[in-house]
Formats: sequence, C-alpha cells, structure tokens
Amino acid sequence: MGLGHFGGGVAAARWLARQGAVVTVTDLADEHVLAESLALLRREPIGRLRLGGHREEDFRNADLVVVNPAVRPGDPLLELARLAGARLTSEIQLFLEACPASVVGITGSNGKSTTAAMIAAILQADGRRTWLGGNIGNSLLCQLDEISPEDWAVLELSSFQLWHLGPEVPLPQVAVVTNCTPNHLNWHDSYEDYMAAKQRIVSRQRAEDLAVLNDRDAEVRRWSHLVRGRRLPLVPPDNVPPLTIPGEHNRINAACAAAAALGVGCSESSVRRGLRSFRGLPQRLEPMAVIAGRRFYSDASATTPESTVAALQSLEGPIWLLAGGSDKGCDFRPLGRAIAENARGTALFGEVRETLHGCITTWAPTADCVSTESLSEALHWCWERSGPGDAILLSPACPSGLPFTNYRQRGRLFEDLARRLVAQPNR
Ligand code: ADP
Repeated sequence: MGLGHFGGGVAAARWLARQGAVVTVTDLADEHVLAESLALLRREPIGRLRLGGHREEDFRNADLVVVNPAVRPGDPLLELARLAGARLTSEIQLFLEACPASVVGITGSNGKSTTAAMIAAILQADGRRTWLGGNIGNSLLCQLDEISPEDWAVLELSSFQLWHLGPEVPLPQVAVVTNCTPNHLNWHDSYEDYMAAKQRIVSRQRAEDLAVLNDRDAEVRRWSHLVRGRRLPLVPPDNVPPLTIPGEHNRINAACAAAAALGVGCSESSVRRGLRSFRGLPQRLEPMAVIAGRRFYSDASATTPESTVAALQSLEGPIWLLAGGSDKGCDFRPLGRAIAENARGTALFGEVRETLHGCITTWAPTADCVSTESLSEALHWCWERSGPGDAILLSPACPSGLPFTNYRQRGRLFEDLARRLVAQPNR
C-alpha cells in the first residue's frame, strides 16, 4: 500500500515477489507520477498493479499488507484489512524481523541521515562490514542474503516508520536520538503522538541494548526514564575532531555518532578517522558552486524550521535565503528571529510564504523579504541583489509541496536554475 518514490515500496514489492508472494502494488498516485518506481519493478514478477486509487477488495483479500510509512494512522482500508484477518507490516519491519546483523537505529527531528551516515563511516573505519539504509532512501531488504551476523546495519528511522512498527518487532540493539521538536503535525494527531513514536526506539529495547540520548536537546534530555537498555554518555562536542562540514549542529550529530560507536567497541582512532573522512550528504548544506563570486549552497533537505536555523548559523558572510514550501504545522517564530539576525535578504515561495513573511516581519519590520510565485523567481530576486562574497542558500524549512514530488526534485531544480545563471551573468 503506497509504492512511493523513495525505494522502500519498490524493495518490499521486489523482495516479497522474489520470495514467491503474489504481490499487488496499489497507490493513490497514477502511473505517470510513479513512473520512476514502476520502471524499477518492470522485470519483477508483480501480480497486479492498482494505481490511481485503492480498491477495498484488495485489502479484504490480502494475507499481508505492507504499509508505506506515509499512510496515516487510522486509515479505514487498514482497519478493513485487519478485520479481514490480514497482518499489517512495513518495509522496515520486514527488514528488522529478518536482519541477521546487529542494528543501530537513529531517529530524531533533525540530523538523522547525517548521524546515521557518520556512524556508518566510523564502523567502516573500524573495519566492520556496514550497511546503511532505512529512511535515508536505501532499502536493505533485497540485500538480506548478503548480510551476515558479524555485519552492522545502520538504519535511519522516521517517526512514521517507528509508528507503524508492531509491538513484537525487535528494535535496534543500539538506539540514537538526535533531538525532538514538533514536526509532521499534519500526520500525527498531536506532538505527544509524534514524540511517543520516536520514544519507541528506546522504550521498546531490551535490557542488554544500548541507547544514546542527545542530552543537549531540551526535549530528549527528559526521556532518560524511558530507556530500557543501558544509556551511553554523549561524547562532549568539544572532544569531537575537526569536521569537514560546517555548524555546531553537525558537531552534536558527530558527538551522538561517536557515543554510539564507542559503545559498541569501536576504537577512538576509528572514531577520529571515520568522522574526518565524512564529507557530508548531498543537499545538506552542500556547497554547490561559486557563480560570479556568490557561493551557492543547496540545503534542499531542510524541511524543518530548526534545520534552516542551523544553516543560517553555520554559514559565513551575508546570506540570501530562499525558503518556503508546504505547511506541516511547525512553529516558525524561532526561524523568523534567525532570519532577522542572520539573513541579508529572504525570498519566500510556496504555500507557506505569507505565514513565514508574517513571522519575519514581526521580528524585523524592516527586513528585506519578499513573497514570490516560484523558486525561480525567488532565486532571481536573490541573484539580482547579491554581490561577490555573498552566500545564496536554498534552505526551505518546509516540505516541498506542489509543484514538487519531493525535496530532491526541488534541489535539482535549484541546481538547474543556478547553472542557467552562468549563461546570463549579472551586471
Ligand atoms: P534528517 O534525516 O533528520 O532529515 P538530515 O541529516 O538529512 O536530517 O539533515 C536534514 C537537514 O537538517 C539539513 O538541512 C541539515 O543541515 C539539517 N540538520 C542536520 N542535523 C541537524 C541538527 N542536529 N539540528 C538541526 N538541523 C540539522
């Protein structure tokens, strides 16, 4: 249920079909929207495609329903399937149930992918065979045959993925929580429901398991009493070796990664080597190009206000910010303040632009800030006002929303638009 665009649906369909299951792939989106994912399934023995909508009969007749993490709780079709005797599961649950390796799971509102990739880099530097997957966009289901008990699997886990896990599923032996702030309130019933999903990663572990809580985070600090396993101390961020990626937030991510790695017996030298070799992930404060003296950064994966605050606090020099997208019920006031303090100018786009505009002008009534009709218009506004030495930063603070399918597509458009600027240099 839900093929999606991030690889989890494709992997679940492929893996189950290869096990001999009769697989029906159903999605609300149609063939056109799902073209990339469908192309990956062309050679697989998929029983049936039901696209552009779901049909009750498919749910009534299923033995197992693999739920895409984006499906909201309480979906009537899931209730129907459950009442008809189906087992509900998810791609990540199938993996956790079958994975022979030790698993490190990372969750949090921000920094999950980065921290997961840092942990994988350290484990590799320590000479361990390591698999990185989960919400980071790389399903490991179809690699299960290659994964052995001595290996390590590092999984980024979203609140949706944790929410959908059944109570009997083995949780990662090592859990890391980077931080927690209100997020995805258009999916979860409340902030409490969102937190409860995240808390599962530590509250459903076993006594012999390990947990890292980032106690620099005001919310996560309060979760100590929920930890069922052994709590590992955070490495003081001052002791983290120099990183190639900017920002205090990344030093805290690294401190969480180091704590987890030391907890499973990696040497201090492996921690240093792993972190020093880590070059950052694409579209996370990624230096993209220098065009006519302006430094372009793509932080397209910034879908929360906190991640854009972190970006604004990490870059040097005058910053021209492009932000906006769809509204998922976040509190934009701290972002308004950070923009007022750190951005030379801000171009807003997408559904949320007027809300953001209001927050910025509350903090800084004279801020240079404009609402635009598109990402392209926002970029031109920044380009025309900026000068050599300035930074032009796409850090949207919101999910992509229309006209984009996902944050990667939004990042690609920004890169294309920036490349076209080379062809028509500014005065
Ligand atoms: P996630 O997987 O939780 O979405 P990522 O590591 O993919 O996190 O980073 C997404 C965005 O969040 C990027 O803009 C990144 O710079 C920012 N970010 C990373 N770590 C943190 C952090 N600890 N606090 C705030 N923002 C962060």
